[in-house]
Amino acid sequence: MVHASEEDRQAIREAIRKICAAFPDAYWRDVDKAGAYPQAFVDALTASGYLATLIPEEYGGAGLGITEAGIILEEINRSPGNGLACHAQMYTMGTLLRHGSDEQKQRYLPKIASGELRLQAFAVTEPDAGSETTRLQTRAVRKGDKYVVSGQKIFISRAKQSDLMLLLARTTPYEELKDKTQGLSVFLVDMRDIKGKLDIQPLDMMFNHHTNILFFENVEIPVENRIGEEGKGFRYIIDGWNAERILIASEAVGDGRWFVERGAKYASERVVFGKPIGANQGVQFPLARSYAHVEAAACMRDVAAEKFDRGEKCGAEANMAKLLSSEAAWEAANACLDAFGGYGFAREYDVERKFRETRLYMTAPINNNLVLAFLGQKVLGMPKSY
Ligand SMILES: Cc1cc2nc3c(=O)[nH]c(=O)nc-3n(C[C@H](O)[C@H](O)[C@H](O)COP(=O)(O)OP(=O)(O)OC[C@H]3O[C@@H](n4cnc5c(N)ncnc54)[C@H](O)[C@@H]3O)c2cc1C
Repeated sequence: MVHASEEDRQAIREAIRKICAAFPDAYWRDVDKAGAYPQAFVDALTASGYLATLIPEEYGGAGLGITEAGIILEEINRSPGNGLACHAQMYTMGTLLRHGSDEQKQRYLPKIASGELRLQAFAVTEPDAGSETTRLQTRAVRKGDKYVVSGQKIFISRAKQSDLMLLLARTTPYEELKDKTQGLSVFLVDMRDIKGKLDIQPLDMMFNHHTNILFFENVEIPVENRIGEEGKGFRYIIDGWNAERILIASEAVGDGRWFVERGAKYASERVVFGKPIGANQGVQFPLARSYAHVEAAACMRDVAAEKFDRGEKCGAEANMAKLLSSEAAWEAANACLDAFGGYGFAREYDVERKFRETRLYMTAPINNNLVLAFLGQKVLGMPKSY
């Protein structure tokens, strides 16, 4: 991994701010209203090379760490924008990088680094399995040099804005397993090869997010597109969870800072009863309190990211960072909305849009209940709920 100095990190921050400055409130408001994918923003970010931050230099990326990737996503969310549109292009390749063959890495990573190939769809969740990933049912049955896949996935984001998709599917029936974490395998699906065979139905969501139900019916995937060993896919996917949690935490920190800054500015300018509303403790203290919580969450995120980049165990810190930052962002969202009063509900102020967006981080990619269960059971050693 390339070591970035504090100056390098500040330069990355400034560069992302510059890119984001070209996409002001009105841009994000318009794509939100139209339910459109923010393609121009994603194109600009792709062209900048920052989406290849985590890809090693030998494959054409920057070879930097989670700390730097976190700075990028934090700054995007601190702007009027949102990293959800493209964050998966940064880290979904991690499974390929850690567990793929040399041939697979040579074939795909340079094109992912350049942006020629988009790998930003990640298909795990199913309607009947939910958070219990080891219960998923989508079957991949081996027939000669192919796997034949049938089943259903839900909430699969950016499937229509991807060339490649990482798929977790069952290769051994659940009932035949002694160890329930086995029997699942990971595939790198080339969506261009299965055009017309995979049914993708968009879901209408609470905010402008492009997520879908996928229906697989006898979709053929070449055996050479399986990543790693058959049956070990759950372990491979888990390996990417800490990175994802730290990056999601970074987006939530960015949102939190946006809400605190917007709220404090508005509260200092808006005059009611002859003085700025921010002089009232009922308006000022919730913003000050959420500021403290957002900054504390950012510290936990920093600790988690540093441990991750040093190759140390960081499950507890990554989970705490995700929990604290998503809660702090939501607290800041409410303090900001309260400060704006009725204007907080008017689209032209952008608070309601960010408010809808930031609520996601408490629910996905993993629900905070399951984060608490991890801390309670794996870190504190209390009895298991599942
Ligand atoms: C906008 C959006 C984008 C998404 N994108 C993707 C994607 O790209 N790819 C993908 O695979 N998935 C994606 N997801 C799915 C997301 O990861 C799931 O929603 C999440 O894992 C939870 O699953 P579920 O919705 O089925 O909830 P459920 O598992 O049904 O849980 C419902 C509630 O019950 C609680 N609960 C369940 N079990 C326990 C327990 N043992 N203890 C305490 N509480 C419990 C949960 O915490 C939650 O509050 C996305 C979801 C959303 C909303």
